[in-house]
Amino acid sequence: RSGRTVLQYFGGTYESAKTDGRKEFLRMIDFIKKNKGKVNEIMVYALDRFSRTGGAAIKLATDLREKHGVIINAVTQPVDTSNPSGVLSQGMHLLFSEFDNKLRSQRVVAGLKAKFEKGIWAVNAPQGYDSVIINGERKLVVNAEGKIIVKAFQWKIDGIKNIEIVERLQSLGLKKMNKMQVQRILVNPFYCGMIAHGMLNGRVIEGQHEKMISREMFLRVNNILEGSSRFNISHKPDDINLPLKVFMWCVDCAKPITGYKMKVKVKKGSEQTFQYYYKCRTKGCCFNKNVKDIHGKFETLLARITIKAEFIEPLMFQLEKTFNDLNAENKGKEKYLKELQTELQKKVDTIEEKYFIGGEMTKETYDKFATRYASEKFEISKQMENCTVSSSNHKSKLKRALEFACNPLKMWQCGSIGIKEKLQRLLFPEGLAYDKEIGAFRTNTINSLIAVIARLSGDSLLVQMQMAPILGSQSRSAEK
Ligand SMILES: [Zn+2]
Repeated sequence: RSGRTVLQYFGGTYESAKTDGRKEFLRMIDFIKKNKGKVNEIMVYALDRFSRTGGAAIKLATDLREKHGVIINAVTQPVDTSNPSGVLSQGMHLLFSEFDNKLRSQRVVAGLKAKFEKGIWAVNAPQGYDSVIINGERKLVVNAEGKIIVKAFQWKIDGIKNIEIVERLQSLGLKKMNKMQVQRILVNPFYCGMIAHGMLNGRVIEGQHEKMISREMFLRVNNILEGSSRFNISHKPDDINLPLKVFMWCVDCAKPITGYKMKVKVKKGSEQTFQYYYKCRTKGCCFNKNVKDIHGKFETLLARITIKAEFIEPLMFQLEKTFNDLNAENKGKEKYLKELQTELQKKVDTIEEKYFIGGEMTKETYDKFATRYASEKFEISKQMENCTVSSSNHKSKLKRALEFACNPLKMWQCGSIGIKEKLQRLLFPEGLAYDKEIGAFRTNTINSLIAVIARLSGDSLLVQMQMAPILGSQSRSAEK
């Protein structure tokens, strides 16, 4: 185009700067030597394509220019090397391109970071996702495993312990699942469409990949996980008198309230008794109240929480639905186990044929397989039993849960310390704030009631709609 005649092309394919003695490069030098006088220019796209070794590249450029009359012309960095300043300039370019090569590995990191910032998960996708190419673009989509993993989040909301979640996932086909992986999955915001990576310095970014669960669901699960570590504080014997310890918060200090006991002065000879108090942990905060006073107020609060008539029907409906869903799940599990059983029977048939009929198997081998299959068979039948047992378990659990919610005051008064705490957490998942100025708990009982229904029913749509006012503030903080 610019009056040059192209004699030969070199490279062209993905020639990386990884190997110094590049074949194409040597072929080009060879070509120049053989065609002495015919070649007067080497065109390259950019100088960093020419060579990676700065000093050697300058020497080579000098040699080519002075001994062979060949100049190097970079399309993207045009320099006139017929004058000294041009030569210097090209030398600089070549030196810089070496520097640039060294920077390249850093650039890969920066490129990765830029991708994360755009919401693109550029590294290996977490379990439950496949990477597919759609219209030339890499997309991360939920795969078959993911459709099973999603159940783990719902189970966590239903109050299932991680260890049981592991068992359930395993029985649905995720053989390699373990407790650590379940925990890792439950706390990974990737599953609700967000990206959190070490390169983002603590920022959480809206991802471009397919969501497995809603953000509300993720937050609920993580509230539960956080709550269980916050509330699972072992109780000293004295604490049975202080059920609201830690659960109750001081409005002024935003700190959990602790409790203590005091000896009551008694006449000589009679038994020693104690008085219990709740106290704010902050020095100088004057919150310090007798247990009787606080418990009275808490009981008044509980008495106001009853299931209103209009809620009973939808609640029963939801419970029924949840029960049926669980049943369906068990049916699926049963079906899967039956398939396993059939498969196993085939294997047993095969080894029997080989040993008894074909004589292709030694007794030793046969015994080995027979024992293994028998234990597998036992394991499967045990799990099948669990399917039916757990469904009747759930029914009674749900029935109890409903009774629970119908009269929280009675449950709290009669229940053990464990029941008291469970009930408290169920009704007020965030704990209860006590305002010492007005001498009362601060709460929105309506929200709490909805929370109970949502929690009992495990209906995510209901949760999203009705818990939105509660979750709203948390969603915002997650976006920061
Ligand atoms: Zn305080």
